[in-house]
Amino acid sequence: MYKYRETRDRRFILSVDNHTEISTALAAFCREKDIHSGIVGGIAAISKATFRFLDPATKKYVDKTFEEQMEITCLAGNISRKDGEPYLHLHVTASRRDYTCIGGHLLTATVNGACELFVEDYGLEGIDRKFNPETGLNLYEFK
Ligand code: FE
Repeated sequence: MYKYRETRDRRFILSVDNHTEISTALAAFCREKDIHSGIVGGIAAISKATFRFLDPATKKYVDKTFEEQMEITCLAGNISRKDGEPYLHLHVTASRRDYTCIGGHLLTATVNGACELFVEDYGLEGIDRKFNPETGLNLYEFK
């Protein structure tokens, strides 16, 4: 699903395999390395992605899937835990064939080419998520 090297101090370089779904691979990596909190960033070439937009008026998520070749020009996000499971909060910008960009929360994306990420483990437990009814968001809950 991925290959990785540890640089130092729980910092990792990840290469996600071709045709692999990025969020699935990242969650599996967090489980394998027992990462409870951290930061993630990277770039990739993808052929399909589902982005998510939260409408603050309705507090409802609107998801949209794009099936075309795109370059993730920037993936930025963080890692925490919710109900004991890895919780990835990922934002992404992706460029299209015509060089325009689209983006949003990254739910899923399938690698078509390469996906190069970095992960830094904060080394902290108790960086959790709890649903906040006022905003409709799963906000940080520090224990
Ligand atoms: Fe967000």
